[in-house]
Parts: sequence; C-alpha cells; structure tokens
Amino acid sequence: MPGSTDPRFAALDPCVHCGFCLPACPTYLATGDEADSPRGRIVLMRALERGEIGAADPALTQHIDACLGCRGCEPACPSGVGYGQGLEAAREILAERRGIAPAARAILTVFSNRLFWRTLLTAAGWFRATGLPARWASGTRLGFGMGMLASTRRHRVPRSFPGFHMPHSAPTVALFRGCVMDTVFRHVNEATRRVLEANGYRVVDINGQGCCGALHEHAGDRKGAESLARQNVKAFGGRANYIVVNSAGCGALLKQYGHLLGTRDGEHFGSRVRDVSELLAAKGPRQGGPLPLDVVYDAPCHLQHAQKVQAEPLAVLNAIPGLRLRLLPGSDKCCGSAGIYSTLHPDMARAVLDDKIRGIAAASPAPRVVTTGNPGCHMHIGAGLRAAGLHATVLHPVELLDESYRVGGLYSRQQ
Ligand code: SF4
Ligand code: SF4
Repeated sequence: MPGSTDPRFAALDPCVHCGFCLPACPTYLATGDEADSPRGRIVLMRALERGEIGAADPALTQHIDACLGCRGCEPACPSGVGYGQGLEAAREILAERRGIAPAARAILTVFSNRLFWRTLLTAAGWFRATGLPARWASGTRLGFGMGMLASTRRHRVPRSFPGFHMPHSAPTVALFRGCVMDTVFRHVNEATRRVLEANGYRVVDINGQGCCGALHEHAGDRKGAESLARQNVKAFGGRANYIVVNSAGCGALLKQYGHLLGTRDGEHFGSRVRDVSELLAAKGPRQGGPLPLDVVYDAPCHLQHAQKVQAEPLAVLNAIPGLRLRLLPGSDKCCGSAGIYSTLHPDMARAVLDDKIRGIAAASPAPRVVTTGNPGCHMHIGAGLRAAGLHATVLHPVELLDESYRVGGLYSRQQ
C-alpha cells in the first residue's frame, strides 16, 4: 500500500491489515461487519484520501459515521497506527465536502453559545428535580433519554464545609467548569474543588470560559472547535499552575489545544491541563474515611486512550478505605456514548452499551456503584442500568473520594 499523499493521513501508513485490532472494536463486535472495524475503516479513509470514493459515498457515510472515535483500536495495534488522527482528518474532509447533518448542527449550535447551553441544561436540571425523569426512565428511546437525565442527579455529598487554610506556596489550579459539568453535574465540580483543596491545591475560578469544543471537533467542525478553544485560551491566560478538568472528553481536547490552534498560547494552555485524577494521584491522595461498597470502575476512552491516563483514577479510588474495587471484563471498552454519537446513532450506541450492562448484571457480588470520569459515559451507563432494572448508581471517582473525606471528618475541621 503506497504512503499518504495527504500528511493528515500519515498516521495510518503503518497499517499492515493484520486485523489484531478487530476484537478491540465495539462496533465490529456489535455488527460483525469488516467495514465497521478499524481495518475496514482505514481502507475507506485511504480511498477517500486518494479520491477513489466521494464524500457522499454511502459506505463512507454509514461506516465512518458509525465509528465511536473511542480509539480502543490503538492500543491493540502492534504497528502503532494512529487511527484517531486519521479519523479526525477524514471527518474534517467529510464535514467540509458534504456539510454537517442538521441534527448534529443543531446540537453544536447550542454548545457554541454559552447562553443557549446554560439555559437548556439549567432547564434540564429543573426538570430532573421534579423526579419525573427517574419515574419515566425505561428501555424505550424516550425512556432511555429520561434515564440519562435522571442519572445526573446529586447523591449524598457534603453540603458545605468551612474550607481549608491554604499556604501561599500551594500550587494554583484553575477549574475548567465545562458546560454539562457546570450545570447538571455542578455537584461533581463542587466535589472536585473540595477534594483538590483537601489535597493541598489552591483552586481559583476563571470567568469567561465556555464549552471545550470537543463535540465540534468529533463532528468534523474544526472551525467551531477552534473558536471555542480561542475563547478558553483567552479566558484562562497565564493564570494558575494547572488547569484541572473532571470530564475525560473535555480533557482530551483541552490537552490538544496547541495542535488544534497551532499557537504558542494554545500549546501553553494544553501543557497545563490535567485530569483531576492526575493531580490527586500526584499527592497520594490523602486517605479518607471508610466506604464499604462494591464498586466497579469503567475507564472512559478519552481518559485511557486519548490521554493515556489509566492508573491515576485507580489510585484515587484505592485511597478510600474499605472500598471493594473491581474491574469487570470489558471495563476498558467504549460504552457507546461518544459525545453526541448516542443521540445521532442510538441503535448502535445501545448495541455497544448492552454488552457492558450484561457484564455488570452478571457480576457477583452485584456492584452498588459504577464509577467513571466522563459525563457522557456517566449518563449513558446510568440510563442502561435503569433500563435493565439494575440498582447500581453511577458516580464520578471524585464523588466517592469526597464522600470518603466527609465520612472521615476531613471537612468538619479547619485544616
Ligand atoms: S490498524 Fe493495526 S491492528 Fe488494525 S489492521 Fe492495521 S496494523 Fe493491524
Ligand atoms: S475508534 Fe473505536 S469504534 Fe472506531 S474503529 Fe477504533 S475501536 Fe472501532
């Protein structure tokens, strides 16, 4: 196979078509169709690059659009193929040549404008507070959406604490608040602040920040992603040693702002971004009080593959005495959420999720909590558990650490 003519596809050059990546691909496992596998999609992407098939080709539309972008194929590849880079290039070309589907465009428009997403997500939070989404959650398409919203609700966490006395030498951390995280998951942002302060970080607020742009980038809307990235780079400036994020999907793109914008400011921004688990693991983290719970961890693709952050969330969870932590088979596989994918491709998203839910249902002892550090996974798995009639709750790892600190009395005394 000749090398790339377009440098954006060069990361696909090492592919030798061995097929080792096939069993790692959730969509291939769901359909058994070679064209829904990484190897099949690489063939389609190369054909697009060489102009052998057009952007409107139905095979491209069906199979490239159906890729989750989870990058689960990358660690399985012995040749080091950079599948994610090739996919990013293919989606950008497809978006340029055939436009973005109206449903995706409508969602991206909402997330481009702070007033729009804040209004919409705040209203969703009010609706959640009525308790109706939890009552209406089911396996139907509408019921699944209700289950997603119901799974965002706050669980038992401390309401307030006096705050920690922070020495001036403490590293300064600016919280990337996000859009979904700053509205329906605001309690996770609050928990993030508390556990970071308990571990000796000074947390500061930055005004003027917005959505990270990951949804736009995944959909091939590079201009939309760049515009949001520039807004965030400007808002954060050079303040704070670190920019901390608790959403894996956001973190993966925030770390890539240098690549996205091609500017020194973008590079400087990206170099300071850390997932919250990275900052906590760097400090130990501090142990809290006991939480004797059966918990399974599900690794978000954008944390384990895109950011290569694998051990740190486990270090956070292992700091909780009494927690009975397990990794179920398939805990490293995509859940099918993948940004707006589950909205645009609900059938495939559910087919991919079903495998994971079956694994959780079969686990003995039954887990009380599924923990994961990405809002899309949180909502998608949460809805799947409700649809299957399982009583496990989904929580972010920092919510568990936060609860452990509350139980251990760390918040009840000034430090
Ligand atoms: S992407 Fe890697 S694992 Fe998959 S077929 Fe190509 S070389 Fe083999
Ligand atoms: S990114 Fe995920 S869904 Fe897409 S080909 Fe790779 S493993 Fe399959």
